[in-house]
Amino acid sequence: MRRSVARPLSAFAVALAATVAVPAAPLAAQEAAKVVLRAALVLDGAGKAWPNGTVTVENGRITAVGPLAAGASVTRDLGAVTLIPGMIDTHVHLTWYITSRGKLHVDNDGDGPIEGALAAAGNAWKTLEAGFTTVQSLGSPEDAQLRDAINRGVIRGPRLITTLGSLNERSGGPEALRDSVRAFKRRGADAIKLFASKSIRDGGTQTMTDAQLQAACAEGHAQGLRVVVHAHDASSVMAAVRAGCDQVEHGLFADDAARAAMTRAGTWYDPQCSLVFRNYLDHKPWFDGIGNYNAVGFAAMEKVVPEAPKQIARAAATPGLNLVFGTDAVAGAHGHNADELVCRGTEGKQPLDALLASVTSQAAASLGLAKETGTLAPGLAADVVALDGDPRKDPRAYQRVRFVMKGGAVVRDEPQLAARKSRG
Ligand SMILES: [Zn+2]
Repeated sequence: MRRSVARPLSAFAVALAATVAVPAAPLAAQEAAKVVLRAALVLDGAGKAWPNGTVTVENGRITAVGPLAAGASVTRDLGAVTLIPGMIDTHVHLTWYITSRGKLHVDNDGDGPIEGALAAAGNAWKTLEAGFTTVQSLGSPEDAQLRDAINRGVIRGPRLITTLGSLNERSGGPEALRDSVRAFKRRGADAIKLFASKSIRDGGTQTMTDAQLQAACAEGHAQGLRVVVHAHDASSVMAAVRAGCDQVEHGLFADDAARAAMTRAGTWYDPQCSLVFRNYLDHKPWFDGIGNYNAVGFAAMEKVVPEAPKQIARAAATPGLNLVFGTDAVAGAHGHNADELVCRGTEGKQPLDALLASVTSQAAASLGLAKETGTLAPGLAADVVALDGDPRKDPRAYQRVRFVMKGGAVVRDEPQLAARKSRG
């Protein structure tokens, strides 16, 4: 989704730094201690499962995963829960928020950098509490300060990968696009976001030319950056694939040929099932009257609602297609990311083992982070989530997060509930 942002970055940075700091010492102490977590079921996110399993954590990293060993000293018995890797959402917009006046924040609406910073910090916290320890924001300039505040421990939030902004058909010819990609790299972008088609509210037809896409994706790769492309219709999806871009977002009107092209090229594909549409349609007053959020736009989204799960089902039934998890969480949707998993696993008919991989190990692979997170395995960051239930049997278990650890630090814990379940 697209929105213009023109607030001064320095003011935002100052405001973010001024928000309440989390003391560093207790966090550091927690990370240093050796912790052995036990749970009724451990799923590594890459296909392995251990009933009555343990995850051992030292210095913020996982050092062992497997069945409970005889004589092992469990330091934390989480009871009748399922441990999975910290979840990953490859498409969010953490700086989007609803103002105290009940409207989507836009430039010059009376909110200043402090409101923006607090809202972004709140969105990061809600997302982390929902079990998402890594997100990719596609993306606004303020993500840079948000990312740094999270990394410094000023606020708590998920590991943040960001494009810091986006490019589109109006960003100039191939040479200008190459310059812009290099400028994003200099500003600290982790990836590049392109808009190759109109929004769903405007028909979703191709906007960037093949030459523009080829220049932007080739330059991204030359700079060591992945390139993620917003593309709705089959023509724009195929153009992104031909240009060698890494990930297609949305692709709601992708056809058999477009899915075959993505499969052959190994392109990551992230079609949304429900959260982003329901968030707009169930809260129209938040958005109504802003940009293309009008009667025509809402009607276009209403039409998509029954079609979107069918697109998930067709993608899930395409052998070899790299279906990855992303919600396009915008203002109001942060912390509800798991609702999208429920849609994919029910109406979307995505097999539940594949769904788990798509939000953990496969999502990490799509971000180039497979050696850092996304799997419960020795050597990786201790990003661990406990669910009430087995997500391979019931995708609603993703909505019942009971415990969240990020990099060895416990950021959400509901011990009484786990203990009660364990007894009963
Ligand atoms: Zn988006």
